[in-house]
Formats: sequence, structure tokens, C-alpha cells
Amino acid sequence: MNNLTEQIRALAKQKNALILAHYYQSLDVQACADKVGDSFALAKYAKDTGAEIIILCGVRFMAESAKILSPNKTVYLPAPLAGCPMADMVTPDDVLLLRAEHPDAAVVCYVNSSAAVKAVSDVCCTSSSAVKIVNKTPGKNIIFVPDQNLGGYVAEQCPDKNIILFTGFCPTHHKISEQDILDAKAAHPDAVALVHPECRTEVRKHADYLGSTAGIINRAKELFAVGTRSFLIGTEIGVLEILQRDLPDAEVYSIGSTFTCPNMKKTTPEDILACLNGERGELTLDENESRMARLTLEKMVELGG
Ligand code: SF4
Repeated sequence: MNNLTEQIRALAKQKNALILAHYYQSLDVQACADKVGDSFALAKYAKDTGAEIIILCGVRFMAESAKILSPNKTVYLPAPLAGCPMADMVTPDDVLLLRAEHPDAAVVCYVNSSAAVKAVSDVCCTSSSAVKIVNKTPGKNIIFVPDQNLGGYVAEQCPDKNIILFTGFCPTHHKISEQDILDAKAAHPDAVALVHPECRTEVRKHADYLGSTAGIINRAKELFAVGTRSFLIGTEIGVLEILQRDLPDAEVYSIGSTFTCPNMKKTTPEDILACLNGERGELTLDENESRMARLTLEKMVELGG
């Protein structure tokens, strides 16, 4: 642990602050955190903790989810300009327009969406719960926002539903091509390909395993424990770095040229220190919007997501 990390850990303890980091954060930021995880898992963790100050190292919608679930806690987004381009692709007006066009359809929003979009949706989902949530949502017609790739995967898995897809996508995952995964498999024929469902259909169809960020990490570790030694990773570089650190005897390769989410890399340990020193403004949400968004998140939990 370097001096800055030690300083951050000591100050966090003194102030009863909880530092949470997404898997895509840099390893330096992760080293400062009390917990590293997927976005909704971090928001739930924040809610269940006794800490009054939450420093969420990730992008804006993640800090918003933490604030929605913990309205009375002080939540900081250490890099205030860290947004998610995919979340920003859909607006509440887009959702309302789709609702007007499909009045009998329910709206399922991916957790990677703004509080304002969650507020006008019926139920939220994560990448690991999306299929279950859509299957359990009453009615045949489902508007799925914002990710066309996760939505496409859900449509494949839920043949009894009619999925009305929005056109959003994650620029980081959408970049990987079918040729990338074919080349990676040809170069490493013994490797197991673990891919995030935010990737395109033509990439997903060549995957040996499809799952969330946590799912990919856990699956790689399970397979390593039973003898698999080589992995192809189809998600953000943070996962590659975690697996290379945790499985030093494994061969872990990125599918395609290493892909990085620039927004996830905006947070630095210095930003965390600035939050602890009171040099950053806390994240605030419109109260009514937050209440409506909470219902959408609670509905997901009610449906088992
Ligand atoms: S990796 Fe994609 S979905 Fe995640 S924060 Fe970056 S742009 Fe958004």
C-alpha cells in the first residue's frame, strides 16, 4: 500500500466513509476501496452499511443508484464528469414517446441508465438479471432501454416476449467485432471465451460463456480451479487486469485490441482524497425523481433481480 492509499484509508476510517469501486476502475483506485463490485451490488452494499458517507468510484448512474437507495446518506462521485455514454443515449422523453407508441408495453430499463430514465420505467434490471426480469414482467410487449445488445440477448432468451429495442449501446463493448473474437480464438484455440452481453450478437454467438462483469470474473476463477489455464476476455480492460493479478499462472487475453472505458478511468486516488477533505460537492437528486426511480429498482428486487 503506497502513502496516498494509506492516507485515504486512514481518513475514510476516521470519517466513517465507505469507498466503493467498480471493477472497471484502475487498480490504484480499487486499492483504496472497502469493496469492489458491479454497479448494483455496490449500491445495495452502500444501503446496508452503517457508513453515512459513500464515495462511489465509477460513473454517474452508479452514484445515482447508491443515492436512490440511500437518500439520507451523503454520496460522492469523485470524478464529477465521469458519465456513461450509453446511459446518456436515452432520455425520459424517449421513453415517454415509446410508451405512447406502444401503450400496452412495459418498460424495462438496464441499471446503466440515469435516475430520470429509471423514474419513468416500470422495472430495472442488471446484465445478470435481465432475462429473469423480462420473463417475469407481465405482458408480451416489453420496451427495453437503452442497450440494443443486452436487449438483443434478452430477446434471444425470451422467445415468448416481443422486445422493442432502443438503439443505445456501450461504445466500449460495441467496438469489438466478430473478426476480433475469431482471430483471438484462432490465436488461442485452448482458451475459454468469456464475454459480456453488452457485446454485439455476432460476437456473443462465439462466446463460451456470457455473463456480467462479476459473472465473468467468478467463472474464470471457477474454471481455473478445475484446470483451465487460458482465457479470452470480452469486456473492459479492468476485468483483464483483475484476472491477471488474481490468477498469475493463467494466460488472460483481451478479445481485440484492449478496450478501455475512458469515463471509468477518470477517477484517481487524488479525487477520493478530495471527497474526504470536503473539496467535492455531494451528489444530489430531485426528490420525486429519486422516489420514482427507487420504485423501479425495488420492483427489480421484488422480481428476484
Ligand atoms: S463501459 Fe460502457 S456501459 Fe460501462 S460506463 Fe463505460 S460506456 Fe457506460
